[in-house]
Amino acid sequence: MASAIDRTHLSTSAEDFVDEPRILGLLDRSVEASELCDVIARSMAKEPLALEETAVLLAADRPEQVEAIFDAARQLKRDVYGNRIVLFAPLYIGNDCTNDCAYCAFRRTNKDVTRRTLDKAEIRAQVEALQNKGHKRLILVFGEHPRYSPEFIADCVREVYQVRTGRGEIRRVNINAAPMDHAGYAAVKQAGIGTYQIFQETYHHETFARVHPAGTYKSRYLWRLDGLARAMEAGCDDVGIGALFGLYDWRFEVLGLVAHALHLQKHYNVGPHTISFPRLRPACGVKLDEEHLVGDADFKRLVAILRLSVPYTGLILTAREPAALRREVMAFGVSQIDAGSRIELGGYTEAGDTQQMDREQFELGDIRSLDDVIRELLADGYIPSFCTACYRLGRTGEHFMEFAIPGFIQNMCTPNALSTLTEYLVDYASPETRAAGDRLVRDELARLPEGTRKQELIARLRRIRQTDARDLYF
Ligand code: SAM
Ligand code: SF4
Repeated sequence: MASAIDRTHLSTSAEDFVDEPRILGLLDRSVEASELCDVIARSMAKEPLALEETAVLLAADRPEQVEAIFDAARQLKRDVYGNRIVLFAPLYIGNDCTNDCAYCAFRRTNKDVTRRTLDKAEIRAQVEALQNKGHKRLILVFGEHPRYSPEFIADCVREVYQVRTGRGEIRRVNINAAPMDHAGYAAVKQAGIGTYQIFQETYHHETFARVHPAGTYKSRYLWRLDGLARAMEAGCDDVGIGALFGLYDWRFEVLGLVAHALHLQKHYNVGPHTISFPRLRPACGVKLDEEHLVGDADFKRLVAILRLSVPYTGLILTAREPAALRREVMAFGVSQIDAGSRIELGGYTEAGDTQQMDREQFELGDIRSLDDVIRELLADGYIPSFCTACYRLGRTGEHFMEFAIPGFIQNMCTPNALSTLTEYLVDYASPETRAAGDRLVRDELARLPEGTRKQELIARLRRIRQTDARDLYF
């Protein structure tokens, strides 16, 4: 049974900033054509939008208005992020859980799910399998349970970083786990984590209370809402927020996410590094309440609106979504996707071609291989990237320069994307993917301006192709 929150354990900025009457008021409005143009123009100037401005986008539901938002989101994605898509994979470590979240197969009262926590040897086997496919970035996922203490999580992170298979290595380990106290975050930071991700699930208080039964740890709304502020105060300046779409009105959740981003920006001078927008999926032993499930048309709108509201925050689109929809939504401003994902415990070595629902948290919509996803990205003109340079050079949080320095993308991101892609093509790709990738690298090189940076990049790509040199980044 969770005890009441002791305020001294919260962050210095702790407050419930989700002002429901205000949000509901903002959602109850219509929009004039000129207003929509003004908001889009502000967004195209790369200004983060206020709640009121985001509400204008949410109210714009006529087909021509929706198209205008889609066009703007596509344009902003090209301007701010270029054509790179960063790739990662989830690795579920353990599904013991003391919570009882209504939507999740891991909830403690679910008797249909197989419980398991990977030991060190099993973690190594999963990581080796991931490395052998070409992965460089992982997110470790945990249920909420006393055995998954910060020290346990930190040990798992260290274990992952130590695994090496041939040229394979994991260069960035992110975390999705329950909120911690300051000391806990400091412990996982010390183990070298990248992003700490916590989803509020729903920002709507009554719904939050309904799906997270009283007395469970997760029922403490403010403890969770404040979780990433504590992470920042403990030195994890790279955090990811998210909402589980389908629990309540999607438009409310979008405003909740934007309020959360603005709160972190205001108090810590840096907003979240990423926003995730998972949609509810079928899960073993779960009966989904269908009232607020989000259809594809609204899903596309919400991604495009988030892109316009928080121009500098990465957007993560997961393999919960089916392949065809992922392909379409990508253009609206997504910066990261997972690929080749399996979320059964032990799934990277033990699962076959079909999913085993009793071993996973929910059903995935896209279990294509990493190679297939990369080939599709290449066909669509994206540069699949495994870059981890900023985080490893300390370019995170307040110091995160990706968007602050003119030409950063051209000088750093594109070259780093091309070198990590070339590593993939040489070390892991199928012949077909390699041919498509080689063509894209050639085309991208031709587009880069002449100069010493380009010459250095060409020399590096040659070294990657001809020698064992790897992990070369700007
Ligand atoms: N146990 C930790 C927690 O709750 O914060 C870690 C997160 S959980 C393992 C990962 C995320 O999966 C949750 O935050 C939730 O948003 C999402 N999730 C849970 N059930 C889901 C479902 N049925 N469909 C889609 N996503 C789901
Ligand atoms: Fe546990 Fe997280 Fe699932 Fe809730 S969402 S039951 S906390 S694993």
